[in-house]
Amino acid sequence: MFNLILFGPPGSGKGTQSENLIKKYGLKHLSTGDILRSEIAGQTALGLEAKSFMDKGQLVPDEVVIGMISSALEANPEAAGFLFDGFPRTTAQAEALDKLLSLKKTEIAVVLALEVSEEELVKRLLNRGKTSGRSDDTSEEIVRARIVEYHAKTSAVADYYRQFDKVESIKGEGSVDEIFDALCKQIDVRMEEAI
Ligand code: ADP
Repeated sequence: MFNLILFGPPGSGKGTQSENLIKKYGLKHLSTGDILRSEIAGQTALGLEAKSFMDKGQLVPDEVVIGMISSALEANPEAAGFLFDGFPRTTAQAEALDKLLSLKKTEIAVVLALEVSEEELVKRLLNRGKTSGRSDDTSEEIVRARIVEYHAKTSAVADYYRQFDKVESIKGEGSVDEIFDALCKQIDVRMEEAI
C-alpha cells in the first residue's frame, strides 16, 4: 500500500490536486471535509453536530473525525492506498491515524505540504464561496477563523511527521499543472524508495 497525506491550510488546493492525484496513482481519496459535508446533506446526527463547528470555522472534535476515518479504512479493504485530504488536522488525529494504519501493517509514505501565502488563501476561499455553495467560504470572518485554527492546531501535524522525515514542502502557488508536476515528482521518489 502507498498512503499519502496532502497537507496545507484551507484554500491551499488540496481538493483540486487530490482529484488529479487519485486518478494518476489509483488511490482512494479520503477527505474528511467531503465526508462531513455529505453527513450534513444527509441530515445525520453526526452531520448536525459537525455543522455547528464548521459554521464557526472551528475544527470538529477529534473523536468524530477519527471514527469516520476508521470506518472509511474498514470500508475499503481492497484499496491500493489512501490519499488523506484535510486529515489529520491535529497531532491527536495524526497519532490515531498512525495506529490505525499500523493495525493494517501499513504507514504514511509521505506528507506533501502545500505552501501558500495567507492573503492568497483568503482571496481563493472567498472566490470559491461565490460558486461553491459552501457557507464556510462566504464570510471573511469564518475564513480567517479557519486559518487561525490551522496555525493553532493543524500546522503542528507537519512537525509531528517531520520527526519521521516524511514531510516535503511544495510551492502551492502557480498553475494547477505546475503544482501537480511538483507533487508527482515527490511521490515518484517515495514510491521508488518503497519498492
Ligand atoms: P478546507 O480545507 O477548505 O478548510 P475542508 O473541506 O477540508 O476545507 O474542511 C471544512 C471544515 O470541516 C473545517 O473547517 C472543519 O470544521 C471540518 N473538518 C474537516 N476535516 C476535519 C478534521 N480532520 N478535523 C476536524 N475538523 C475537520
